[in-house]
Amino acid sequence: MAKYIFVGGGVMSSVGKGITTASIGKVLEAKGFNVTAMKIDPYINVDAGTMNPIEHGETFVTDDGLECDQDIGNYERFLNQDLSKDNYMTTGSVYLSVIQKERNLEFQGKCVEVVPDIPNEVIARIKRVEEKTNADFVLIEIGGTVGEYQNMLFLETARIMKLQEPKNVLFALVSYLPIPSVVGEMKTKPTQTAARMLNEAGIQPDFIIGRSNKSMDEPRKRKISIFCNLMQEDIISSPDVESIYEIPLEFEKQGLGERILEKFGTEKKSQDLNDWRELINRIKNPQGEVKIGIIGKYFETGDFNLLDSYISVIEAVKHAAWSFNLKPEITWLSSSKYEHGENLEELNQFHGIIVPGGFGTRGIEGKIKVIEYARKNNIPFLGLCLGLQLATIEYARNVCGIKDATSREFDPQGNNLVIDLMEEQRELLKNNNYGGTMRLGAWDCNIKEGTKAYEAYGKTDIKERHRHRYEVNNDYRKVLEENGLIFSGINKDKNLVEIIELKNHPFFMASQFHPELKSRPLSPHPLFKGLIKAAKK
Ligand code: GLN
Repeated sequence: MAKYIFVGGGVMSSVGKGITTASIGKVLEAKGFNVTAMKIDPYINVDAGTMNPIEHGETFVTDDGLECDQDIGNYERFLNQDLSKDNYMTTGSVYLSVIQKERNLEFQGKCVEVVPDIPNEVIARIKRVEEKTNADFVLIEIGGTVGEYQNMLFLETARIMKLQEPKNVLFALVSYLPIPSVVGEMKTKPTQTAARMLNEAGIQPDFIIGRSNKSMDEPRKRKISIFCNLMQEDIISSPDVESIYEIPLEFEKQGLGERILEKFGTEKKSQDLNDWRELINRIKNPQGEVKIGIIGKYFETGDFNLLDSYISVIEAVKHAAWSFNLKPEITWLSSSKYEHGENLEELNQFHGIIVPGGFGTRGIEGKIKVIEYARKNNIPFLGLCLGLQLATIEYARNVCGIKDATSREFDPQGNNLVIDLMEEQRELLKNNNYGGTMRLGAWDCNIKEGTKAYEAYGKTDIKERHRHRYEVNNDYRKVLEENGLIFSGINKDKNLVEIIELKNHPFFMASQFHPELKSRPLSPHPLFKGLIKAAKK
């Protein structure tokens, strides 16, 4: 029988509930338990695939092809596990399946109601994950903040589950403790209010995890303890840290893992966070620096959203750099700066350049200029998804002499669609069938021996995660190949280009898939390692 820990947020969003959930999971996993984590998002979108990254941050993709919230990525990175479709749900997806069941007469004539039928569906999904993963602990993060209308049904789910299995369910409230500059003191009142609101929803938090710039001191803990009705040892301080990967160690220091086991009455198992400690040690004691420039376009809404839009790419760069004992220094470069071939010399300061994924026409020409510059000036380059498509277009234009080479995405009327839609995608788009219909999830890729891709992976058969509609047009493969572009990875089932690279270049590689989605702190991705290795040189 599994134990369940719900994690909800108080005071405001964006305080790191996802990382907190992942870190609780890490602490329990390090104690020898089988842990899985789920995320519930309160919006109506059935998945995260139809949202602009500026709205919602990066869309993460699982092996089984679900487009989901970036927190699933956090769980995968901390727990070093591949999660599935079942680990994620939205209000939209829950309602959709309840309504479908109703239409199929599965409720046998009963009146179907928001309560309890929606919470029951959520509980059924939680149980399904437990069954499939055989987890000792299932962590369930509820998106949003207590007190808002949107996630009430999910708090209701937690309440009902706790009622049904009081010994198996805990609730952790992740709350924010501001330190207003005029006061200079950490304030607990907003957290007290959040705990009260949770009480109103029928839930008493078992833990309060206080996020703040600084550590929580004793008087603060005492206050929260008295006003929120918790033992002092159940109030955990979660101050800002240099690297998010330190947070499990912070929690462990404060005995969170032990307390969870105590509350559940679960026997202790062996404990080992050693590999994690070693990682933190490496992060904090770099032997040098590696400068990576990332050319993107989701810059318009400020730094916060920018980092959110490319979170897996950033993490993948860090993981790879740390594995070489290097400190990564990432610089964001707006593609519009290079559109007319200006400012390119500034790229010389970087040890490596990444062109990440993206959608739409804006920013394309600047990225192509950057790729051309990296190719001609021997700057290590890694292209991700759109990055591969643009590198192919650049090569077609500037090496093969197909001056008007482009992608159907940018110019549907183009004469030389080096990047094009497959027949089945054309059908989907004709019918406005956009949701969940890209080439998604893990696909086989066969790697040619003797290539740099082979050198990076050390094997011929790999699986990588995709999220795109367009592909290299096979009609142009011959001319590209004759001119020196190497197709080093191919999906054999559908005969699709998966990896391209160049020979006489320190590192020029691009993948149609998103390698960043499979990078983990303790097992960095081979292609990112390849880039950093070349960048180091
Ligand atoms: N827009 C491109 C496509 O749909 C690339 C997508 C991406 O980079 N994820 O094929």
